[in-house]
Parts: sequence; structure tokens; C-alpha cells
Amino acid sequence: MTPASPLPSATEAVNPHYPHLFAPLDLGFTRLRNRVLMGSIHTGLEDRASDFPKLAAYFAERAEGGVGLMVTGGFSPNLVGWLKPFGGKLSWPWEVRPHKFVTQAVHDNGSKICLQLLHAGRYAYHPFSVAPSKLKAPINPFTPRQLSSRGVERQITAYADAARRAREAGYDGVEVMGSEGYFINEFTAPRTNKRNDAWGGTPEKRMRFAVEIVRRVREACGPDFIIIYRLSLLDLVDDGNQWQEIVAQAKAIEAAGATLINSGIGWHEARVPTIVTSVPRAAFVDVTAKLKPHVSVPLIATNRINMPDVAERILADGIADMVSLARPLLADPHWTNKARAGKPQSINTCIACNQACLDHVFENKRASCLLNPRACAETELNYTRTFKPKRVAVVGAGPAGLACATVAAERGHQVTLFDAAAEIGGQFNYAKQIPGKEEFHETLRYFRHKLEETGVQVRLGTVATADNLAGFDEVVMATGIVPRQVDFPGAAHAKVVSYVDVLSGRVKVGARAAIIGAGGIGFDVAEYLVHEGHSSTLDPKRWMAEWGVDPTFESRGSLVRPQPEPPAREVWLLQRSIGKPGARLGKTSGWVHRATLKAKKVQMLGGVEYLGVDEAGLKIRVAGAEQVLPVDHIVVCAGQEPRRELQAQLLTAGITAHLIGGADVAAELDAKRAIDQGSRLAAAL
Ligand code: FAD
Ligand code: NAP
Ligand code: SF4
Repeated sequence: MTPASPLPSATEAVNPHYPHLFAPLDLGFTRLRNRVLMGSIHTGLEDRASDFPKLAAYFAERAEGGVGLMVTGGFSPNLVGWLKPFGGKLSWPWEVRPHKFVTQAVHDNGSKICLQLLHAGRYAYHPFSVAPSKLKAPINPFTPRQLSSRGVERQITAYADAARRAREAGYDGVEVMGSEGYFINEFTAPRTNKRNDAWGGTPEKRMRFAVEIVRRVREACGPDFIIIYRLSLLDLVDDGNQWQEIVAQAKAIEAAGATLINSGIGWHEARVPTIVTSVPRAAFVDVTAKLKPHVSVPLIATNRINMPDVAERILADGIADMVSLARPLLADPHWTNKARAGKPQSINTCIACNQACLDHVFENKRASCLLNPRACAETELNYTRTFKPKRVAVVGAGPAGLACATVAAERGHQVTLFDAAAEIGGQFNYAKQIPGKEEFHETLRYFRHKLEETGVQVRLGTVATADNLAGFDEVVMATGIVPRQVDFPGAAHAKVVSYVDVLSGRVKVGARAAIIGAGGIGFDVAEYLVHEGHSSTLDPKRWMAEWGVDPTFESRGSLVRPQPEPPAREVWLLQRSIGKPGARLGKTSGWVHRATLKAKKVQMLGGVEYLGVDEAGLKIRVAGAEQVLPVDHIVVCAGQEPRRELQAQLLTAGITAHLIGGADVAAELDAKRAIDQGSRLAAAL
């Protein structure tokens, strides 16, 4: 296999901004136009052939946006490998044709695409699942059937057949998913492979399944077909692989015919976060660098690479030959071309919140993006230029107002945006203060740039009134929320403060604090109060130590004892409802918040009655027993109410306004709904 060329040859133009990122990659039989791999992400459009035109539009937009090579969401090579009943699969001849929409659309836009072969193994959410051994995954109610030796052979044949069909459908290659605790990874790791036949018992036998699959796929598809193998470089579970075993797997997989090796980081059942927003950028690339001297095929680095400077550094430092971005390309389909043009400030940066992508997938909904509601809705939501430009006033520069103003202006409307505050962002200015939410600064940077680019007139420090809203064709109220007040005895005591007082720095919280309300904001405020100094998200070494990742990657599963830093304060997090606080937090991020607070010894109580506040602290009753929490401050995070005082003025003046975001409905408001509603209103104005 031809090794990656670090920079373009003398005859090719070198990109002046990110020379390594835009160096083509010669794979011997084919050439990629740059080092950007769009990593696999399940969108929910893979599961029905009737959705393939939408899937094609989604990929086409990213191909047009300049991506070098893309990988589809996972398709199972057979029925038992289904991720869920009726999930995407490529095992029958009639399943080939719909894929041609996708491959054609990508090729028409100058990119290349591989189909991901994903056999779910014991992560399959159905009763037909199979695995090397009969062991239930801790995150799945179904127990898999243990495969016989003939059964194992049948799975290998299914991979080779599916890869052949992928080639027939026009794909440039396949990615064989060998990580994240799925089927193949279950064979390689002693944790899940308890066999004592030709497929288990020793490291060599455990990896034989992976190697055979790559060998048979190569045999089935010929030499001019890309095979990416996603190798689990970090299992992050007990009894996972050990470093020398991983190196041996990489070498054998290269010898069996892989074209590229992608980095797999962490099993889904791992209790170390690997992609959420509090994970440092490029946190795990050192493990890819550690593998580099052992193989000659190009390596791909992954996880939390969301801006071009990070990607360029990884390539320039020789850590990897390509970088994989998945969610960042949902957030901004034009990421690659913007980087190529040296305009990183115009990138809508993925904040790794998972709220509209992975959380949707777990809820069986179509994926999208909190920041970009057009993601996976490219055929349905379009910001077409208007033939009738209007004068539009948007009041409130929080996420709802920012989305509405910029989309309306992009469509050709003449937009004025008012905010009472001195800076744009609304509540995102509080969110960005939370340790681990530093990415929220990027969203504000993006919108500042976008407002300028689209020519929105911004009037900060201006409380909009009926007077300055007269004469506009459309008025949009995106005035957000007011924090809900509590009304139990002592609620007016000086110890009782709002999250706004705390996060704006107006109140310095004492050594002991109780938080009233364990919703998203209550959890965030708890994290703010227990941290001291700068966030470990900005310090990967400290972050690794806190979560127990072996910095040498040598121990089995790469786990060591976690060493959380002591909390800055003693904190109680309270809610009235019975049950586990944080139960309504996002599926893919809630457990991280709960684990962080547990490590910081935050006491989380449900079923709390608030009886009163006095000098002694907060008096509560839980399960019939009264107690006083001896706290210096009680921080109220008890939800929010719409902020609508402007509406009455407007009605009196005969002005009808559109209501969006928190101004419309404050209950269960989040930035996903605010941005979606703002964008959709602007698309319809
Ligand atoms: P807001 O953000 O409240 O903006 C309203 C704006 O209107 C304000 O800037 C205000 O100054 C302005 N305004 C009001 N009246 C007037 C007037 N008369 N004239 C001029 N200007 C006016 N959401 C998520 O989805 N994910 C998260 O991880 C997340 N984390 C959060 C963390 C914290 C600490 C907080 C506080 C919130 C978080 N949120 C999160 C919630 C998210 O920020 C809100 O849902 C979102 O900001 C609501 O947007 P909005 O535009 O409706 O209102
Ligand atoms: P929330 O999620 O609705 O939580 C409000 C909390 O206050 C609940 O725990 C509620 O629980 C309690 N409460 C409600 N009324 C009360 C009252 N009168 N007295 C005492 N307690 C009361 O709202 P939020 O925390 O303010 O968050 C606002 C929105 O921002 C959320 O919808 C969330 O989606 C979003 N957000 C998201 C994230 C994220 O990471 N995804 C982070 C922050 C914010 P009890 O009624 O049981 O006491
Ligand atoms: Fe990134 Fe959040 Fe958008 Fe997902 S929803 S792509 S994590 S910004």
C-alpha cells in the first residue's frame, strides 16, 4: 500500500491556510482530494429505501462542501446483525438499487464514499442477536445467542457479500466497523469472547475473525476498492484489549488488505465519555500517534476534532494521515470549503451537545443538528432567496433571535436585531461559563460573523419598545425568559439567589450551597459550583486523570483508577419530584453529568419538600424526615417563564408580533427548539 504523502508534490498548489489538511491523499489505485473524512453517523434515513433521496441530498451537500471521503451510517451485512428491527441492511440484491441515488449524488459533487458495514453483535436491539459468547451487554436488555463455528463462517461470508453489493451500488469502498464494542470488537476482546475454539482462547484466535473479514472483503471486491478498518484503539472497559494485542491486530489487518485504519475510541458501554462537549478537543489522538510507527497504511484520527486548526495540527505533527469529522459536518456542511478558503470564523462549530444528532437516534427520531436544523432535512427546509424583501425587526439576540435574523437576512430581507444586553447570545452567555461548555463561545463567534456577513443591523444595549418597532413589515419577539421565582417561606431571604446572579458573577457563592431544581440548568450550576480554577476540558492530561484513562494506553482496556479533583464547595442538588435527579437530561450526556457530580460528592436528592430558609440554612423534608441543610446560599434553578412584557405594548400600538423561543413557550425550552423555530419562521417570512 502506498504511504500517505504529507504535502502536495511540487507541481500541486499548496493550500496557504491548512497545507496538510488540503494535501491530496494518494491511495495507490485512487486519490482523495484532501484529508477530511466524514465519519459515519447514523441519521435514521438509512432504514427505509423511500428515504434514500433525502439521504442522497444530505451527502450531496457535504460532498459539494468539499469533503474528501465520506462514510455512510451503519448497514448490517445480515439480519441478525441489525442494529434494531428493520434497520439499514445490505444483504439482498434488491437492497442495492436505492444506494445508487447516494453514490451518484456524491460522485456528481466530486467526493468519494464508503458504505459502513456494521454488525451490531450483542448491541443489537432485537431478540435474534448473536455474539461470540452468550453474554448480555449492560446497556441492552437482549441476550445474544452464541454462534457455532459454522455460524461464525456464515457471518464472514455475509460481510464479503455485502461488500460486493456495496461495490455494485457504486461505493468506492467500505468501512468495516471493528470498534465501539460491536460484533467484531466482541471477538477481539477477552471481555466478551470466552470461546475456546478456532475463534477464541488466545489473542491470535480472538483477532482471527476481524482478519478473515478484511481478507474476504478484499478477495470479493478486488484490489481497487477502499477498505477502511475501524480498529478499537481504546476499549475503555475492563478486560478490553491490551496495547500489544491492538498493535498485532493493526498489523494483521493491514496485511489482510485494509487501505486505511480508522481509530475507534471507547465501547458504548464504557463509563468514560468520548464525544460529549466536556471531552477535550482531540483528546484521544495520542493513541493514534502511538500506533503510527507500527503500520504503513494511512491512519485516521477521530473524536472531538471540530475546527481546522485542530485538524491541521494533527496532520502536521504526523499523528495521523486523515482526520475524521462526523457531527461537525452536520453542523456545517460547508466546513471543508470554508477551511480551504481560510475562513474558520465562518464555520458553525459543532458544540458536541448530541441534542439533535445522537439523542434523536436513540429516541428513534431522524438526526439533525441543534445549530443547523437543515441537517438531514435538506430537501424540506430551504433558505431560498425572497422575491419580496421586507423590513424585519427581531427583538432578542438569544439563539432564537440570532437564527431568525441571520436566516431572514440571508434570504434577502432587511433585518434589524435589537437586544437590551451589551452583547449577543442571550442565555448562551451563561451557558458558556459552565466548565465543560467552552464550545458555546464558538456559537457566539459564528453568529457575530454571520450577522456581519448577512448585513443584519445590530442594535445592542437597546430595550425595544413599541416606538422603535413601528414601521417594520414583520416584528419577531425572541425576548426569551425570566427565571421562575420560588414562593416557600423565607424565599425572600438574602441567601436565596437566582442562577443568573451566580453565573453573571453578581453573587459569590459561599462554601456550602443548595440548588433548587435539578433540570439542565440545576446540573450546570452544580458543575460550576464544584469546579475551581480552569476547566479540565481545556487540560486533556487532567481530564484523563479525572476519568481514569491510562495516559500510556498500556493497561488492559486503557483504564486506571479515576482521580477526581476535590470539589470546590459542598453542594446539594434538589428536586421535588420523586426519582433520580437528571432523569430528563439527554440520553447520551445525562450520565456524564450525573457521574461528574457524583465524583464531586454532590448530594442529589429527589422527593424534597422546601419548608423554609433562615440564618441556619434551608429546611427540607425528605421521606417524612425534616433536616436543615447548613448552606450559605440557595441557588434557584426552578425553570423559567416566557418574557412577554413587550407584547402588551405592541398590541396597544396595533403591532402583531411573531413569538419564538422562550418568549413563545418557556417550558422545556432549549436551544434546539429556539434555533429551529427561529430558522423555520425566517424561512417562511
Ligand atoms: P434567550 O437566550 O433568553 O434570549 C433572549 C434575549 O432577548 C436576551 O438576550 C434578552 O436580553 C433579550 N431581550 C428580552 N427583552 C428584550 C427587549 N424588550 N428588548 C431587547 N432585548 C430584549 N440549551 C441547550 O439546548 N443546551 C444546553 O446545553 C444549554 N445549556 C444551558 C446552560 C445554562 C447555564 C443556561 C442558563 C441555559 C442553557 N440552555 C441550554 C438553554 C438555552 O440557552 C435557552 O433555551 C436559549 O437561550 C433560549 O433562547 P431564546 O432566544 O428563546 O432566549
Ligand atoms: P427544567 O429542566 O424545567 O428544570 C426545572 C427544575 O426546577 C426541575 O427540576 C423542577 O423539578 C424544578 N421546579 C420547577 N418549578 C419549581 C418550583 N415552583 N419550585 C421549586 N422547584 C421547581 O428547567 P431548567 O433547568 O431551567 O432548564 C431550562 C431548559 O434549558 C431546559 O428545558 C433544558 O432543556 C435546557 N438546558 C439544557 C441543558 C443541556 O445540557 N442539554 C443544560 C441546561 C439547560 P421539581 O418540579 O421536581 O422540583
Ligand atoms: Fe454537534 Fe450538537 Fe449539532 Fe450534534 S446537535 S452535530 S453535537 S452541535
